[in-house]
Amino acid sequence: MLPDFHIHTSFSQDSSAPARAQIERCMALGMEELCITDHHDYATGMEEELFLLDFPSYLSGLSLLRDEYSGRIRVNIGVELGLQVRIREYLGRLASTLDVDYIIGSSHFIDQMDPYYPSFFEGRSEREAYERYFEVSLQRVRALDCFDSFGHLDYVVRYGPDTNRNYSYAAYRDYIDPILRALVEKGTALECNTAGFKYGLGHPNPTEDILRRYRELGGEQVTLGSDAHAPEHIGYSFGQAREILLDCGFRFLTVYRQRKPQYLSL
Ligand SMILES: [Zn+2]
Ligand SMILES: [Zn+2]
Repeated sequence: MLPDFHIHTSFSQDSSAPARAQIERCMALGMEELCITDHHDYATGMEEELFLLDFPSYLSGLSLLRDEYSGRIRVNIGVELGLQVRIREYLGRLASTLDVDYIIGSSHFIDQMDPYYPSFFEGRSEREAYERYFEVSLQRVRALDCFDSFGHLDYVVRYGPDTNRNYSYAAYRDYIDPILRALVEKGTALECNTAGFKYGLGHPNPTEDILRRYRELGGEQVTLGSDAHAPEHIGYSFGQAREILLDCGFRFLTVYRQRKPQYLSL
């Protein structure tokens, strides 16, 4: 099975899966490598910061596992960074000093609210909320250089009142194209995140049309992750994702080792 490069463990507040259980599941699925990418969302504006990684214990804990599993499966160590322009210096410093293989940059908090919580949608239409999500994401992609791949570009549609029933690339093209162009210009990868299937959207995040458009605009680096918070979701719908990526014109999957892209045949 293709390697899963978006996996959470109990180092993240929203997962209770031990890293060892996640690695074992990857081995059982026949993966040759994986990447653990726990959450680090700094200065979210929440009353309590729930998504801060304790980097010393995270990195030392995962390094021990990487050594233990060496020769059986390659354990890459990554992080999913919550992007925000107002902490640009912090993120830049962190990314340049962290000893990790891979950094996913994700738009989680928008105006101090995560779309995961219904309050994000209060007092405005779903369309307005989605547009705001994409506008802020564009600012982040343009301003920040601290990440290798942009995570789940249309994450917001997982949680809207009508989820993706009124959502499509065509309906939000004017918002999405500039994000894709900025990624291509910077040589930043785009993530195909299969949790959309798990959420019942019937599509990955982002959708097939957006992956295809990124390829059309010259984007070649696509990464793949399940966003699993539990072992049973690792590699979720990866067979389908592979077909989608091939159909969109990708021939290689990009993985990162020591922050350097490596290309695997799809
Ligand atoms: Zn995320
Ligand atoms: Zn995630």
